[in-house]
Amino acid sequence: MHLPEKNIDKRIDIFNSMFLEEYEQREKSSEKARKKFVSDYSIDVISKMDIWKYVSGLKTSGREKDYKTFCYRIELDLKDMGDFRGVRVPKFGVYYSVQRRKLESDVKRFGADIDIAFENVKKTICTLIQSGENDEYEKILALPLYPTYKYKILSVYYPNKYMCIFSENHVDEFLEALNIQCEKASMLDKQKKLMSWRNNNEKTKQWSNYILVGFLYSCITIPSYEKNRYDEIEEQEEMQDSSVAGYINKYAYSGNLKTDHDYKPKKKPDSFISNGVKVYKRSITTSRNALNIAGYKCERNSEHTSFERKLDNKPYMEPHHLVPMSAQDDFDVSLDVTENIVCLCSNCHNEIHYGVKRKDLIEQLYNNRKNILAMAEINISLDELLKYYDIEE
Ligand SMILES: [Zn+2]
Ligand SMILES: [Zn+2]
Repeated sequence: MHLPEKNIDKRIDIFNSMFLEEYEQREKSSEKARKKFVSDYSIDVISKMDIWKYVSGLKTSGREKDYKTFCYRIELDLKDMGDFRGVRVPKFGVYYSVQRRKLESDVKRFGADIDIAFENVKKTICTLIQSGENDEYEKILALPLYPTYKYKILSVYYPNKYMCIFSENHVDEFLEALNIQCEKASMLDKQKKLMSWRNNNEKTKQWSNYILVGFLYSCITIPSYEKNRYDEIEEQEEMQDSSVAGYINKYAYSGNLKTDHDYKPKKKPDSFISNGVKVYKRSITTSRNALNIAGYKCERNSEHTSFERKLDNKPYMEPHHLVPMSAQDDFDVSLDVTENIVCLCSNCHNEIHYGVKRKDLIEQLYNNRKNILAMAEINISLDELLKYYDIEE
């Protein structure tokens, strides 16, 4: 599914403001292990390697003390650079079978004779490393190595030229989501397209391949991944929203509530992390004030009826931040002010989040509020507001 241009842009902003730092830290620590690996395994070392220094599966077998082999390290020490543990062990060409307690080979690719197979595997890996350096795409694609393993080796030796995405299906999903045309291209050409997409955007061009992959997996949906972090942000926002509504309709407040806005800007609220997502604190009192200022009448249509709440027989209404709190990063003043909180009956409140015609509702509320918003120095056009609701013109 294509994502609209504005939506992609918003995801980039969210990634840069919320996740970039974390991924940069991770990259730093995985770079250490990667560099060590590359310096330990030059082409020369690989071509002379003993089979017991190569195969994985030795740790669980208890057979060898020295289980930190080439395969073990590329799979586990470097799992932060792309995890391919889900792929079965024949991916390595030759391997130690823990079940059968013996060396085995991927017969189809390298033949049944272990010694010959291992010589072939080593030769293939050396050719891969050589061809990777020289950008010989056709040669790389023709090598008999298991694709996932092949792309992992390339991204370990040349992290700036090859990406640590090993599934071609995922690459296809990302290209499709970002609306990048790429028919009949090879896996390597597709990777190249993703990298040039990154290079052509001011907000992303400073990303390394590692960061780019982090962005794709955290903020661009892959259907097989149930939820990504972008969806988690929306979910956290809704949770905060409805917990405030529940609270103010349930518990009494002894102070005096405001009957009019302050009509002036306020300082940004503090943020905190909820389920791995940054959210801004919202004041319950401010929301109470907002409902009181609105006279507990639905701001779409004051005729909308609601039930009386048992707390104090006032009509049940829900506060809604017209400019969503998830947009707080983009503003220098607080969005958690009565000027920005509209009072809605619960039907209209649900419609603004889930309705097919919610655009009309948002537009109506915006027109009623824009002057008041401006007094709180929340300056926003209707187009910009719709963007925060993921609505395209
Ligand atoms: Zn809401
Ligand atoms: Zn209503």
